[in-house]
Amino acid sequence: MAPAVHPPSSPALPSDSDERYANVKWEELGFALTPTDYMYVAKCQKGESFSEGKIVPYGNIDISPCSAILNYGQGLFEGLKAYRTEDGRCRLFRPDQNALRMKMGAERLCMAYPSLEQFISAVKQTALANKRWVPPPGKGTLYLRPLLIGSGPALGIGPAPEFTLCVYASPVGSYHKGTSGLNLKVDHKNHRAHSGGTGGVKSCTNYSPIVKPLLEAKSSGFSDVLFLDAATGRNIEEVSACNIFVVKGNAVSTPATSGTILPGITRKSIIDLARDIGFRAEERVVPVEELLDADEVFCTGTAVVVRAVETITFMDKKIEYKTGSEALSTKLYEMLTGIQTGRLEDTRGWMVEIDGCNG
Ligand SMILES: *Cc1c(COP(=O)(O)O)cnc(C)c1O
Repeated sequence: MAPAVHPPSSPALPSDSDERYANVKWEELGFALTPTDYMYVAKCQKGESFSEGKIVPYGNIDISPCSAILNYGQGLFEGLKAYRTEDGRCRLFRPDQNALRMKMGAERLCMAYPSLEQFISAVKQTALANKRWVPPPGKGTLYLRPLLIGSGPALGIGPAPEFTLCVYASPVGSYHKGTSGLNLKVDHKNHRAHSGGTGGVKSCTNYSPIVKPLLEAKSSGFSDVLFLDAATGRNIEEVSACNIFVVKGNAVSTPATSGTILPGITRKSIIDLARDIGFRAEERVVPVEELLDADEVFCTGTAVVVRAVETITFMDKKIEYKTGSEALSTKLYEMLTGIQTGRLEDTRGWMVEIDGCNG
């Protein structure tokens, strides 16, 4: 007898109309988890290298209550997307950069890490196993979430005796609701990162402390929080999960990655694209006062892509910025997504094909 309800992660459930795609209302996707069929898991025991890794059904993982991730937050995450082209292929955007960033983070947190090749292969295998969840072109992307965690028991402070690399996937749409620009609030009280801390790596521990300021800002009607540097409180750093750029005349500026800024791959790519069209892109200290007379402000990240900022509220001033079709952020969004979807030529070799995804 057929079950009355199919679980959303059932591997044997093609959509009614088209077997190449899962039964998803693509138009309704936001940035929330839609469980997919499979995930990738590989383990690394103390003193050894990572096991080959396997694709297994998506589901809960067994972990020691004494694991280093659960007790002391020894863990890193990554985020990247698989993009569907008009002719049905699937491609990743600069996965080598995610692998390198995971390595940097692992060194900071004393964790074993997969080789660049294993990382990219793990991500490709996960995307391929879940290919029917890669949205049709223009309808979203398959978000891939690699996790590197201290899975072995550690009661004393120290590296875990076992590490796990896990990659899971979820189709996603837009990160912030709506299509208009963001309304940010400058936070003068909470700080995201400290010099010498882990703000410059994608450590799991960076995120739970910002939930409170984020919820407070949202309950006052803001879309997100803009954090200032912890040392002086005078310079802008970044938004809760994305980098920030300030545009003034021909200059596009973003805070330099000197330890408290997450080195975003979108950030790095946008610097290149802005230079391509004749802007002066600068990585430097950006004093908060520059927000007062900037022409434009925008955010970048894998999840947000490139998103214009409409207003920033700073003390009791609300500053408005240029958004819309004439804005530089719109131009840069079109350039970046053009490369990602195959509408524009990928002159830098940023896109990596996932073989076998078509059909
Ligand atoms: C992941 C992340 C970003 C964006 O990095 P991308 O590589 O562009 O996705 C920015 N800031 C924080 C705090 C992040 O965690």
